Amino acid sequence: MLKRFRLEEPESANEACELLGRFGESAKVYAGGTELLLAMKEGLVDYERLVNIKKLGLNQIKRDNGTIHIGALCTHRQIETAPDLQRALPALVKLERNVANVRVRQVGTLGGNLCFAEPHADPGTLLIALGAKLIAEKGASKREISAEDFFVDAYETRLAADELLTEIQVPVPAAHCGLEYLKFGYLERPSVGLAIALTARDGKKSVGDIRIAVGCAGPAPKRVAEAEALLEGKSTEEAIRSLPRAGEIAGRAAQAISDLHGSQEYKEHIVGVLLKRAFQSALSQC
Ligand SMILES: Cc1cc2nc3c(=O)[nH]c(=O)nc-3n(C[C@H](O)[C@H](O)[C@H](O)COP(=O)(O)OP(=O)(O)OC[C@H]3O[C@@H](n4cnc5c(N)ncnc54)[C@H](O)[C@@H]3O)c2cc1C
Repeated sequence: MLKRFRLEEPESANEACELLGRFGESAKVYAGGTELLLAMKEGLVDYERLVNIKKLGLNQIKRDNGTIHIGALCTHRQIETAPDLQRALPALVKLERNVANVRVRQVGTLGGNLCFAEPHADPGTLLIALGAKLIAEKGASKREISAEDFFVDAYETRLAADELLTEIQVPVPAAHCGLEYLKFGYLERPSVGLAIALTARDGKKSVGDIRIAVGCAGPAPKRVAEAEALLEGKSTEEAIRSLPRAGEIAGRAAQAISDLHGSQEYKEHIVGVLLKRAFQSALSQC
């Protein structure tokens, strides 16, 4: 059962941060509430005050100078149906279309997904591969945190308790960039997720820049620089030969945990399978 709480309705990000600072651990940001209210109902967390940020107007999607700006309050459904994103970031649109179910996507926000840092979540992994930046605000101060640095551990991010995530900035991939996010799982949430962003050179004869990220298998999504180094700048043939090794490296980097979703070894194996498939798919788009 949900215990009684007080709902604060700030009109600005400044006011929201001030409330969070003033009430400390007894207050929490409330966006769509799909995670927060569930956790409160289950008695896993307990807050006297929820700071509703829905009036802050953080639900815009804009594009300027090669960057897509996604307000933290944009719902999964809004992202999935945004015409601009369907053109510029089809991989993100596809990912969002496969998050949860339509009822959760209609209410749950991208910001809430990232800030809750539930390990079995999709967007963080792709945002790391895309080189996205997350904008955090506290009063008049604003800072950028790369998606790569944002996730610390399960349910833990770099955000301070009185900071708000206000925007997600995604560089628009170059026209010749291939991008793929693949996930695997048979429970409600994904068991393993993997994202690749790559460019090809010399008419796909060699691999240019590449970014690889893994998620869901371990406590937090991670970039896998060691696997990238194995493939970057190599001839496509050599890179394809190196995929099993890159998959092993990515499997270890995922810090997979044995749980209801599968054993550590099983998840590491799936990371390797997804890496091969995602590489081929991304390359085919270049
Ligand atoms: C049945 C079910 C299935 C799901 N399946 C998937 C899935 O397949 N893949 C997937 O990726 N996700 C999945 N999810 C997670 C879903 O994406 C999240 O529940 C949703 O995005 C959270 O957003 P929200 O706005 O509801 O967050 P809330 O519940 O409002 O908040 C979550 C947490 O983030 C904090 N927070 C929220 N916004 C901000 C902000 N702007 N700044 C600072 N802190 C903030 C809150 O204080 C809270 O601690 C599933 C959820 C459910 C319930």
